[in-house]
Amino acid sequence: MTEDEFTTEIYYESDADESQLDDVTVAVLGYGSQGHAHALNLHDSGVDVVVGLREDSSSRSAVEADGLEVVTPVEAAARADIVSMLVPDTVQPHVYEQIEDELEAGDTLQFAHGFNIHYNQIQPDEDVDVTMIAPKSPGHLVRRNYENGEGTPGLLAVYQDATGDAKERALAYSKAIGCARAGVVETTFREETETDLFGEQAVLCGGIAELIKVGYETLVDAGYSKEMAYFECLNEMKLIVDLMYEDGIGAMWDSVSDTAEYGGLTRGEAVIDDQVRANMEEVLEEVQNGEFATEWVTENQANRPVYTQLNQAEKDHEIEEVGERLRALFAWQEEQESETEDEREKVQAD
Ligand code: NAD
Ligand code: MG
Repeated sequence: MTEDEFTTEIYYESDADESQLDDVTVAVLGYGSQGHAHALNLHDSGVDVVVGLREDSSSRSAVEADGLEVVTPVEAAARADIVSMLVPDTVQPHVYEQIEDELEAGDTLQFAHGFNIHYNQIQPDEDVDVTMIAPKSPGHLVRRNYENGEGTPGLLAVYQDATGDAKERALAYSKAIGCARAGVVETTFREETETDLFGEQAVLCGGIAELIKVGYETLVDAGYSKEMAYFECLNEMKLIVDLMYEDGIGAMWDSVSDTAEYGGLTRGEAVIDDQVRANMEEVLEEVQNGEFATEWVTENQANRPVYTQLNQAEKDHEIEEVGERLRALFAWQEEQESETEDEREKVQAD
């Protein structure tokens, strides 16, 4: 890619005008990972926030304990100028049906992921702004960074600009939740959705879990011990990824032995070969042509038969049992994990 093919703008706090949110009420629908972080950060930034949750939602007490007001999604949307859709993606079309009539001309429908807009599961009227501010991290970090005076990088996209102010308002929102402190990268709903799905399927969640399991199985099938296979294929993964995350792939090569570097450079390409590249292209195609989206929507309508079965099979994989046993040997690691788990449970409790 050449220099002038980069069209991406990055915005910072100085680009955002917080007065865009003066006299504006934001309804945050959902109080999970993203919802709690957006609601609390907006509130602490001086924005009028109301949280929308079902009458029987167990998150209601958490909202009240945090000092925010909670009403039903319909009432929240009725009062709001900006409706931030932060319930799970599979639930959003259902919640949208309930609140659709509360969106007046000039209101904003705000997302943190583009799936439902891009794949037409939600089709807002032409007179509302449709924007996205998507923090590139889980909600508990969006909240923690904000409290520490730091930012969380995010994405900004405008799908529909009915008022002419959609982008300005989105920028102000990104500043209020702390993203503009770190930088907000401009993108489109299409690009965010398709790259997000491809990344989580081919490289991150899907790709990495399969790579680990197949590596583990290869060693165990060849007669090596399960413990050694676990350490080599799963435990060390984090150390390697941390090096890349901190300073790039080159820093990882610099840190490992020359033997590891030579072996990795020659054999890596042999494992992730042209067939894998072709497989990735196919995965991307199914994301682009909507085949994956249709499959997932249908799967949800049918109460998730495939999901349920695969979810169980993954839990039953031998590497999970081996890992649980080995991780228990590391008391220090357990302590760290339980802290993160507490945090996760706190924000995900419904
Ligand atoms: P979540 O699962 O953590 O929380 C969703 C919340 O919605 C629940 O806690 C509950 O308060 C509410 N809810 C659940 N079921 C509901 C129902 N049937 N009706 C009404 N409310 C219900 O969700 P999340 O991970 O915060 O995702 C919200 C949005 O943020 C999604 O669009 C997601 O793609 C996006 N996003 C998530 C992350 C992340 O790391 N979690 C990062 C960036 C963007
Ligand atoms: Mg994602």
